Amino acid sequence: MPSLYIDGAWTAGSGGVADVVNPFDGSVVETVDQAGPDDVERAVAAARAAFDTGPWRTTTVAERSALLHRVADLLQRDKERIAHTETLDTGKTLRESRIDVDDVTAVFRYYADLVAAQSAGRLVDTGQPAVVSRVVHEPVGVCVLITPWNYPLLQLSWKVAPALAAGNTCVIKPSEVTPLTSVQLVELLAEAGTPPGVVNILLGTGPAVGAPLTSHDDVDMVSFTGGLATGQAIIRASAATVKRVAVELGGKNPNLVFADADLEAAVDGALTAVFLHSGQVCSAGARLIVESSLHDEFVAELARRAELIRPGNGLTEDVEVGPLVSAAHLAKIEGFVESATAEGATLVTGGRRPDDPELAGGFFYLPTIFTDVRRDMRVVREETFGPILTVERFETEAEAIELGNDTEYGLSGGVWTSDAGRAERVSAALRHGTVWVNDFGPYLPGAEWGGFKRSGNGRELGPTGLAEYQEHKHIWHNT
Ligand code: NAD
Repeated sequence: MPSLYIDGAWTAGSGGVADVVNPFDGSVVETVDQAGPDDVERAVAAARAAFDTGPWRTTTVAERSALLHRVADLLQRDKERIAHTETLDTGKTLRESRIDVDDVTAVFRYYADLVAAQSAGRLVDTGQPAVVSRVVHEPVGVCVLITPWNYPLLQLSWKVAPALAAGNTCVIKPSEVTPLTSVQLVELLAEAGTPPGVVNILLGTGPAVGAPLTSHDDVDMVSFTGGLATGQAIIRASAATVKRVAVELGGKNPNLVFADADLEAAVDGALTAVFLHSGQVCSAGARLIVESSLHDEFVAELARRAELIRPGNGLTEDVEVGPLVSAAHLAKIEGFVESATAEGATLVTGGRRPDDPELAGGFFYLPTIFTDVRRDMRVVREETFGPILTVERFETEAEAIELGNDTEYGLSGGVWTSDAGRAERVSAALRHGTVWVNDFGPYLPGAEWGGFKRSGNGRELGPTGLAEYQEHKHIWHNT
């Protein structure tokens, strides 16, 4: 089947084809079509027409809500097929992929219910008996949704579910590295009854397909999740047409462990925080900051446990961690390890690819821990997006907070302590969009997700994640 979906029809496009690679062994999972410049024009025109003159904008909230619930039903019907594809495409374990499909289902249901419950408008007191003032929600228009490769299906759901709930039309541009489950989701959106032109998907690279979308005259909004440099380029590209731009970018997330923490839980949490999905998580707790008195004992236990993590084929049920997503990303991680070593950090464990010959064809890298790091080292400052944990020490609560905030990013942070007062003080002081206390990683469809500082300028999930896709119109009616 062709891979692009434009104006209600599957089409091959004019940009040639590209291979999608299985990170476990480097084999080709599928060869997919790529969009050319004319496909970009056709997709935007279809989304524009569906918004301006098509039936979508005049659908009732109840109809859109019912459609999103149908998509959720279809996701559950096809859960195993989609999870299997996500694992082939990203390398993550099947267990994680299944959780992703369940989470995506929950996001569709959440926005289906939220938009159904949203009031039709808000009355504002005018002080004049003859005047009725109302503020109503309207969709923004044509939304371009650009997503990264680490959580392809999940990140797309955070955008497409609220965008459709609000009545927008969309052009989706998934990562060229992992496009397959985004195509599957569009199949389900079509099956659920989305009218032609309302949802379109274009495959291809950022420069070839993403960039022309972000500067296009007929696009009203760009919602982007990905790296900082790309986000900056998108903000610049969209400036001339004054699009609404929401960017969710990277993180360098501190995980603070106080000596009064439950140590077993903190070790577990610190390992999951950074080694889940081989660290390819925007909110990964890659920067562990431990109270000095606990440091040596904590690091020894971390290393012992990190060496027990079982890498392998994500499709094998008891495997705990899969490979990195691509050969290029593996090379980037190797570069970070070299720079950390050259700058004087102490390698505690990992720092190399696994010996297992069965994993030699894939892009595997062992869980890696560095101590004796300084905050000016590249490995501490930059997002590695891989299985690398750096460990710093602190003496006082104030120092822990200062270290935790010493980053250009502000996506997430963790605090491990049994002192409730300290938990409150530290979580209030951390300049990050999500703070977990005695946990690391969970999120909820109903709780806003996003970054402070250079981690982004928008919010996904929660009511704000819907408001991002809505205009607020004031109607002043002098009766
Ligand atoms: P990336 O920035 O390289 O690519 C993301 C998407 O942008 C891809 O679809 C790519 O094709 C497209 N793109 C690239 N150049 C473009 C351009 N000039 N114009 C328009 N589109 C362009 O990011 P990635 O490597 O795919 O993903 C990893 C990054 O994503 C990490 O920095 C990670 O922290 C971030 N991320 C953030 C969140 C969050 O919620 N804040 C979630 C997941 C990932």
